[in-house]
Amino acid sequence: MAAISRLTKPSSLSSFPRLWRSITTTTTTAQSPPSTLSRRSDLSSRSTQWVFLGCPGVGKGTYASRLSKLLGVPHIATGDLVRHELSSSGPLSTQLADIVNKGQLVSDEIIISLLSKRLEVGETKGESGFILDGFPRTIRQAEILEGVTDIGLVVNLRLPEQALIEKCLGRRVCNQCGKNFNVATIDIKGENGKPGISMAPLSPPAQCASKMITRADDTEEVVKERLRVYSEMSQPLEEFYRSRGKLLEFDLPGGIPESWPKLLEVLNLDEQEEKLTATA
Ligand code: ADP
Repeated sequence: MAAISRLTKPSSLSSFPRLWRSITTTTTTAQSPPSTLSRRSDLSSRSTQWVFLGCPGVGKGTYASRLSKLLGVPHIATGDLVRHELSSSGPLSTQLADIVNKGQLVSDEIIISLLSKRLEVGETKGESGFILDGFPRTIRQAEILEGVTDIGLVVNLRLPEQALIEKCLGRRVCNQCGKNFNVATIDIKGENGKPGISMAPLSPPAQCASKMITRADDTEEVVKERLRVYSEMSQPLEEFYRSRGKLLEFDLPGGIPESWPKLLEVLNLDEQEEKLTATA
């Protein structure tokens, strides 16, 4: 797969937060995307820079996190950055709670500022590359990202809507370690030539079992609004990346045991995982 072979270039992201900052300060009032050429040439060598797209509940976090461990790059989820800001009772938290709990998107400026700060922290730790989950979510965010990075691959995870709703409603999070689990048993019959889909619950280990919480935005009403907002604001990103030859569509065949090996296979990473498992 041509897109895959571009992904493992050596890199330093050292100038990324600085460039990002300069771009965001110039674009907060501008309507059109910044010119990318001079910045792109500063950032010619890179390691994995991937994006995960997909509706709420599809499992972006699960698969992005597994791949980040395999590829040795950070998994950066903007939803986590937003929830961290919410729990910090900082100046933005009341404003953010109102938006997030209605299933709406936070403004591009706020989300870019949170992401930029996260990248700066990563820079000080010597991080290189990333797997982004939940960003970009608007065409404007994608244009800004395109101006400061060279995204190698965009993985678009897909599940039927019924599964997405059941997965969001069944999601539980450990309030200590932050890991996601799921109490839903999904069993959707195949129809019109499409295969059925089954997913077993993802139960927490003993140390997390008593610490399960439900996200405030995982109620049926808010989940449906998040799906609506996704199809309006984020679905156009599929065409944005498809037209650039970067989109990999992946229909999840089931839960993690069926989906993870298939995903590794289409990413040509199955051998890499075998080596890692053998040396662990
Ligand atoms: P989901 O499960 O809907 O994919 P996330 O955990 O990614 O949710 O994000 C939670 C919330 O954080 C979103 O509903 C939105 O309010 C906000 N958020 C996260 N990423 C972005 C983004 N890139 N742009 C705007 N808002 C965002």
